[in-house]
Amino acid sequence: MGRAGRPAVFLDRDGTLIDDVGYPRDPDQVRLLPGVGTALIQLQSLGFLLVIVSNQSGVGRGMITPEEARAVHEQVISELAANGVQLDGAYYCPHSPDNNSPCRKPEPGMLRQAAEDLGINLSRSFMIGDKLSDVEAGKQAGCWTILFGHSPSSLAKVAPDYVATDWDAVVAYISAPARELAAGERR
Ligand SMILES: [Mg+2]
Repeated sequence: MGRAGRPAVFLDRDGTLIDDVGYPRDPDQVRLLPGVGTALIQLQSLGFLLVIVSNQSGVGRGMITPEEARAVHEQVISELAANGVQLDGAYYCPHSPDNNSPCRKPEPGMLRQAAEDLGINLSRSFMIGDKLSDVEAGKQAGCWTILFGHSPSSLAKVAPDYVATDWDAVVAYISAPARELAAGERR
């Protein structure tokens, strides 16, 4: 794969960028987590593209409409914009688990699609999320992985590269000089 392509940070949405309220349907439910805006601006200034990759199975399960899902997603994008963050991409998978969709995390479909759309080098990129399925998706795509705000008990199963309890820790990890060098080649 080499060094061609730009590095990105792939961002889970619910429980990572915003409060996880479970199948959000109303834009008023969107609350950015502490430190998100500052952290994303710092990551962007390090040269990373920023791309949301979110499972929204509430649509496929018939619990929320595609319009509701879209409105919430748009609200996340505009709250970030209000904090000075311009995303490079924002994907979500509407399918329920029974569809075996290639875009539903832990499958890496959304990351691969974004890589194609935006010219991203996956082996120089990071996936950050609060669930093991985020870590698995990142690993399957060949990215570095960060489990966000999680209990250590579940770590043995997926072995993320790093566990961060807040956004300051995420930025410190990604911007560490050693990490930057290592991120040159994931595999
Ligand atoms: Mg999540």
